[in-house]
Amino acid sequence: MPLESSRFRQEGFHDVKDDDARRSPPRPQARSPRKSAAPARQAPVSARAAFPFSAIVGQAEMKLAILIAAVDPTVGGVLVFGDRGTGKSTAVRSLAALLPRIPVVEGCPYNCDPASPQGLCPRCGAQATGKSPKAKLVPVPVVDLPLGATEDRVVGALDLEKALTRGEKAFEPGMLARANRGFLYIDEVNLLEDHLVDLLIDVAASGENLVEREGLSVRHPARFVLVGSGNPEEGELRPQLLDRFGLSVEVSTPKDLADRIAVVRRRDEFERDPAAFAVAWKREEDRIRKRIVSARERLPKTNVPDATLEQAARLCMRLGTDGLRAELTLIRAARALAALDGDADVSTEHLRRVAPASLRHRLRRDPLDEVGSTSRIERALQEQLGP
Ligand SMILES: [Zn+2]
Repeated sequence: MPLESSRFRQEGFHDVKDDDARRSPPRPQARSPRKSAAPARQAPVSARAAFPFSAIVGQAEMKLAILIAAVDPTVGGVLVFGDRGTGKSTAVRSLAALLPRIPVVEGCPYNCDPASPQGLCPRCGAQATGKSPKAKLVPVPVVDLPLGATEDRVVGALDLEKALTRGEKAFEPGMLARANRGFLYIDEVNLLEDHLVDLLIDVAASGENLVEREGLSVRHPARFVLVGSGNPEEGELRPQLLDRFGLSVEVSTPKDLADRIAVVRRRDEFERDPAAFAVAWKREEDRIRKRIVSARERLPKTNVPDATLEQAARLCMRLGTDGLRAELTLIRAARALAALDGDADVSTEHLRRVAPASLRHRLRRDPLDEVGSTSRIERALQEQLGP
């Protein structure tokens, strides 16, 4: 892993990499990994080499799920289960890299949006003077949450240095601050402690991180798309946690010969000359970027007809999913898909396409038996919505 991450760093692969959490004990003076970045990491955006999203071979369901979450983060995160080396983390980084850069308040550790005075962090809120703060454009952040991360590193904690040297009670923001308005990626989420997973899902759902400890009380914006990946053979997520993720997809090594050849060829071309590869895929990347941007604009106006709501409810009743979270996710995912497709109304077809990802992890009995769950959903779809 250290080898791999240093290579990524040379390529400027990561937008934000939590190096601090890998060291122990935590070093309060390392406030921002960006400031201590190696020169190569400060390369201009055009030189940053993320594998183009559109060049990812196959994995259609995973790509669609991440696109949907990028259009409507309230679907509640994406779980990606499957073999190693199937491009799970590449897909997240690639999508973040293709999204338009976001304006943030300069110097704000929470990536506050200068255009939205509501939902500012305490720091920007206190400095608000009525005129717009100084802004800069930054890439959409992708924060990696390593398995060994302590709760303090994740949510933020008392700044020990300030406390010890100056006697000040100051808050040192954690990974949730840096992930605001971006993606939080957890590799092997099934091996993370349950209470941390619970906490992350809570914050992702509310869009706010509230820290109360050691006499501190800090509330700051933390809106991010949570993406968890894992290999079910290495450990399972409790059903209660599974159910709290919006979408769940399974990826596997391509079985098709032509796909395997394409994967290797593209990866090789990319690694030999990332810049030329980026140029070759630019048109496709631009097309997807436009699709996401217009879907976000269209989303609030996208209509869910009563008939579609009824179909979603019937489908969930037929499958016996608990509570209403399944229906809510199904409808939200279908609406985001309709917006991506440029359609004004959510149709049966949209429901059909997002139903497996929205429901397969919510079925009782063998929630991780993806194949079984998927065929149960396919059967219910046929019965309820027709062939
Ligand atoms: Zn701020």
